[in-house]
Amino acid sequence: MMLAWHEAPGLEPSHFGAYETGLWARASSGETVVGFARLSRCALIGAFEDPHRALRLSYIGDRFPVVRRRTGGGSLSLDANTLIVALALPVGHYADLAPALLMSTLCAPFLAALRDLGIDAVFAAPNDLVIAGRKLASAFLIRHEGVMLFEMALPLALDVEELLKTLRLPLEKLSEQGLLAARQRFAPLRTLVPDLGSATLCARITARIAQTLDLQGCHEPPPVLGRADVVTEDSRPPPDITAFLKTPGGVLYLDAWLDPGATIREARLAGAVACLDPVLFSRIETSLVSTYAARLEPALAEALGDASPDMIGVEPADIVYLGHLCAARLLVGGELGLDAASQISVFSPHRTDSIDAILASLDAVLLPYCAKPTWCKWRHRDGCPECGRCAVGEAYALARKRQLTVMTITNFEHLRAALAELKGRGARAFLGVCCTDFFLKRDYAFVEAGIPAVFVDIGGDTCYTLRQEEEAYAGRFEAQAYVDARLLGRLLEWRDRLTVQGDSKTQAQPPSPAVRSAGT
Ligand code: SF4
Ligand code: SF4
Repeated sequence: MMLAWHEAPGLEPSHFGAYETGLWARASSGETVVGFARLSRCALIGAFEDPHRALRLSYIGDRFPVVRRRTGGGSLSLDANTLIVALALPVGHYADLAPALLMSTLCAPFLAALRDLGIDAVFAAPNDLVIAGRKLASAFLIRHEGVMLFEMALPLALDVEELLKTLRLPLEKLSEQGLLAARQRFAPLRTLVPDLGSATLCARITARIAQTLDLQGCHEPPPVLGRADVVTEDSRPPPDITAFLKTPGGVLYLDAWLDPGATIREARLAGAVACLDPVLFSRIETSLVSTYAARLEPALAEALGDASPDMIGVEPADIVYLGHLCAARLLVGGELGLDAASQISVFSPHRTDSIDAILASLDAVLLPYCAKPTWCKWRHRDGCPECGRCAVGEAYALARKRQLTVMTITNFEHLRAALAELKGRGARAFLGVCCTDFFLKRDYAFVEAGIPAVFVDIGGDTCYTLRQEEEAYAGRFEAQAYVDARLLGRLLEWRDRLTVQGDSKTQAQPPSPAVRSAGT
């Protein structure tokens, strides 16, 4: 049996879809094929990614194309210095291997090839090859109808600044220091073996794959490709409700567009997650159409059934809980309007607390320093004398009126100390104001503290949109975000009603999307 292999050094990004399709078709007819492609400058997004969430589209503009892979996982910023290895094969005895084990198994011949070249890399779950903690390569995989497509992105050299500008990763930093730190996180192959030729690398990888699969390597010319493809603009309006959940397998989003009466017209599951089943998300999305949005949680449980989804780091319970979070936002929408609901998130450490239960137990309000005016002498200090010149003062007044502890968080260390203090004195829940990017990046601080919370997203310029994350964590972010004091007030009034009633199970009616702005 043969392992057909080829190099495609000058592949047009717009032909990548046709390239994958060709490999898939050959594997469907029983062949095993491995291709080594180099794409010119482009962004290659994962099969399930929303480009608006994954990429800085404002930077990309017309600079280079955005194309979509068949495989899930995160997006890539590519140029011809990255080798994309695409291996297509019949599933054979890999048919029933658990997704995480299959991923590490398929990475093994790559690690062996790198060892042949003197690079002692190891596999790092869920899908990376690393050396001394630095990322060397990422792998992606789908398995469907008897065929697998395994792809690995192996940078020979890497333009980290371009990567940070292209990908909308809250983890990344573009300041001088941030770039330095980011460069330390990657180990492109030629920083390890300066004279590494791609022909040598391709030959080693082919040899190791052939050995693993017990096949005979056979070189062939690159395929001739006809059809061009790029990601087309999503012309849909923003979703009516949306929820996100950080899982060990990545951040998963559920978006829903509603008909009047709050039934789902369209749904979208998205994220940089490794889902091996390429049709699972679209099947779930279809099954949700016409579902009453408040029933998203049971509807998702039903759609998933008893089978464990073919995913890495995402459990069925995660997807079902996403439905719960979406329904919770609908409930918030019933109280405050759907537009306001999109700014409010629930954090329940054990996924057991409802939003009304958390609101009724609020003991503290945490505000970010970035919402104080840059000229305010209290900007980098905890506290506020309520001088009446900004919304943070209003937020302080709202909290103090209710005898709630109120703090300005001045940097990340202060946040951890504040959470530890709240925990130490038995705080039941808090109301936090911060940007979603911060929450996604630093959620572990909240998980560690284990205190239920309701978060209100800030508006205005965040240090993510301005690319000043590094300064922000050190408490030096110099632009001004915006706290919606009116929304905060309405949320606290809701909390007052719940406290008076002593009933954490209010039965708010979900709003109709047609009138969602009313009352906001
Ligand atoms: S209200 Fe407080 S935070 Fe705002 S400007 Fe006055 S002192 Fe500064
Ligand atoms: S990360 Fe930046 S913008 Fe977001 S809350 Fe913190 S300081 Fe404000």
